[in-house]
Amino acid sequence: MHCLRCNCELGVGQKSVALYMFAQTVGIRPRQKSAAHRISFCPQCAVSLAMGPPPEGALNVAAWDMIRDLVGSDPALNQAAWETLSGVVGLLPATGTDGTRSVPSPGSFEF
Ligand SMILES: [Zn+2]
Repeated sequence: MHCLRCNCELGVGQKSVALYMFAQTVGIRPRQKSAAHRISFCPQCAVSLAMGPPPEGALNVAAWDMIRDLVGSDPALNQAAWETLSGVVGLLPATGTDGTRSVPSPGSFEF
């Protein structure tokens, strides 16, 4: 599984938001049902989408509403997004603690 938005890999047991979609005929015989599709978003993309402006297209807005519902109803999803973000930050070298002095930007004062 990959996140639909950022294409990052979502392994088994990894936190994500899944959207299930299928189409079905109503009032038409025989009743037809399409295959179910599963769309996944990583926690950061789900939170980022929910915080962002509404997308274009009625179907996109419907999905956006559902994601906003999840993000807005419980802080657990936000938490998951933060955890992943801090995990990425932890992989980056810490500035100022690795012995190299940060170069002051031009025009800044040093005391
Ligand atoms: Zn993503």
